[in-house]
Amino acid sequence: MAIVVQKFGGTSVADAEKIRRAAGRALKAHNEGHQVVVVASARGKQTDQLVADALELNPNPPKREMDMLLSTGEQQTVSLMAMALEAMGQKAISFTGQQVQMVTDAAHGKARIQNIGAERIRESLDAGHICIVAGFQGVDDEGNITTLGRGGSDTSAVALAAALGAGTCEIYTDVDGIYSTDPRKYPNAVKMEQISYDEMLELASLGAGVMHGRAIEFGKKYDVTIHVRSSMDDSTGTLITHEVPQMEGIVVSGATSQKDLAKIALIGLTNTPGNAAGVFAHLAGSNVSVNDIIQTEVNSEKATLSFTVARSDLDAAKQAIEDIRKQIDCESVFIREDIAEVSVVGVGMRSHCGVAENMFKALSTNKVNIDSITTSEIRISCLVDLADADRALIAVCDAFELDKPATQRAQP
Ligand code: ADP
Ligand code: ASP
Ligand code: MG
Repeated sequence: MAIVVQKFGGTSVADAEKIRRAAGRALKAHNEGHQVVVVASARGKQTDQLVADALELNPNPPKREMDMLLSTGEQQTVSLMAMALEAMGQKAISFTGQQVQMVTDAAHGKARIQNIGAERIRESLDAGHICIVAGFQGVDDEGNITTLGRGGSDTSAVALAAALGAGTCEIYTDVDGIYSTDPRKYPNAVKMEQISYDEMLELASLGAGVMHGRAIEFGKKYDVTIHVRSSMDDSTGTLITHEVPQMEGIVVSGATSQKDLAKIALIGLTNTPGNAAGVFAHLAGSNVSVNDIIQTEVNSEKATLSFTVARSDLDAAKQAIEDIRKQIDCESVFIREDIAEVSVVGVGMRSHCGVAENMFKALSTNKVNIDSITTSEIRISCLVDLADADRALIAVCDAFELDKPATQRAQP
């Protein structure tokens, strides 16, 4: 019997009626002859509420306790959904991350899955149950509860699909697929039929909150096709899958803007072998993820090294830099928080020219100043003033005609 993994996000389980609807979808798949595993998020905005509750008591809550608290949101949903299924006459059983041996590292708040036992799920499936697993949470080697980072239930679901050998993971959410950009920021965005793992990975890491980035990494590595679709109807959504030749013809498939960033520049750093390595080893040791690294030589002895971090990591990053500052002999540290990043992504960039020109022209025509530029073979990103971010995203979407289906867009 084929295993189906269905993940329901917060808005799709926000109240009793929605939990019943999600349960009904799982039951339908079960009645069609599948073994069904459901992964569920916390209801509605409950995780935000738990974060607010914690901050009311402690502005800097211990990370271990934070994970202990946040994991309770998902635990409520899974037990409620199991009750809803039982009320429909279907055997169902809910599990926490720990109960399905979702083993992670110990990086509280952004833990990475290392191993999934899953025997208990298989046994329960074979006994005819629908299994409902709490997303977003795991357990470290010492038995502490960990969480995978905001939006991490997607990753729990795709990782479980991989561990159980399910070829597809269905992600049920409040949009009916992946759009060329966030439809809340650019209402004319168009839905894609499919997108490659590599493009979606870039979009996710650049702020497209519709999927958690690590979920895409699991999908790509273990050949799980991810189907992002609406929990409100039966329409086909967007398939995230391996690249196929026709994707090359789409120069820019999506755009993003990201506002929760900070930029750090180390100015007048002694330019000797080992200094950059020292800085980033120190940041990694503090669990700070770094993006958009740019080093430029000022003269034969000095360099400027800049990079971005998530604003939530800024305090940890500042501390790490302070700790290593004397060692690297850095003249000054410059920090900007009023910054945002606007990016375009597309595998077709590998074989087409003119994309950078088109993007920079769109920004300059709209009087958006560029702070710095970084690229990969399938993306171009510009840091801009935070106040310009929305305007910049719209300008770039218009310039690349992201309001039209990919086949109808003019090439740059
Ligand atoms: P869930 O709670 O189901 O996990 P999320 O809020 O995490 O849902 O993700 C869905 C939201 O992602 C949408 O409501 C949409 O505003 C946002 N989003 C951002 N970028 C995109 C995109 N490129 N395509 C579709 N939705 C996007
Ligand atoms: N409940 C968690 C969050 O709000 C995880 C998730 O929804 O995927 O971030
Ligand atoms: Mg989500």
